Amino acid sequence: MHRLKDKIRDISDFPKPGIIFKDISPLVKDPAALKIAVHQLLYPFLGKKITAVAGIEARGFIFGSLVAWELGVGFVPLRKPGKLPYDVKSVSYNLEYGSATLEVHVDALTENDHVLLIDDLLATGGTAKASCDLVESLGAKVAACAFVVELDSLKGREKLKNYPVHSLLHY
Ligand code: AMP
Repeated sequence: MHRLKDKIRDISDFPKPGIIFKDISPLVKDPAALKIAVHQLLYPFLGKKITAVAGIEARGFIFGSLVAWELGVGFVPLRKPGKLPYDVKSVSYNLEYGSATLEVHVDALTENDHVLLIDDLLATGGTAKASCDLVESLGAKVAACAFVVELDSLKGREKLKNYPVHSLLHY
């Protein structure tokens, strides 16, 4: 029996002094833990109207594509600038350590889509909120946001108060 928390490794002072980085590498390397995490991520959405999963580069791609596969829907990558080859929409935002931009292909989603947004970790919520804005800029709806890890003290959930938020592990 796995405790998923045992598979999250704390790395102090990465990528900057004062940050405790929650490393999901041990979790995704362990097949049983990975399976449990993916199923726990998606179970609230079984039977709900989800037409696509959007994953945030890069660790959101790991969980997002597995969840998309299990739900039988397509996967939409939300990427760092300059990576997507076709026309894009962009959004810039602040995160726990620095600032960033995310992009999506302009034809990745339509107003008919109900999107489950996935990332490994919710910290201040800046990344996830920007991702929701990006999805909505294409006319699609954000059905919910799901994370493996949530850092409760950073109150990211408050930025996502317009959406259902599902997190597996709280710190
Ligand atoms: P935020 O926008 O502050 O919610 O930050 C969330 C994004 O930054 C996610 O894509 C995470 O992968 C990454 N991130 C932020 N803080 C951490 C942390 N302490 N450990 C691991 N990843 C983090």
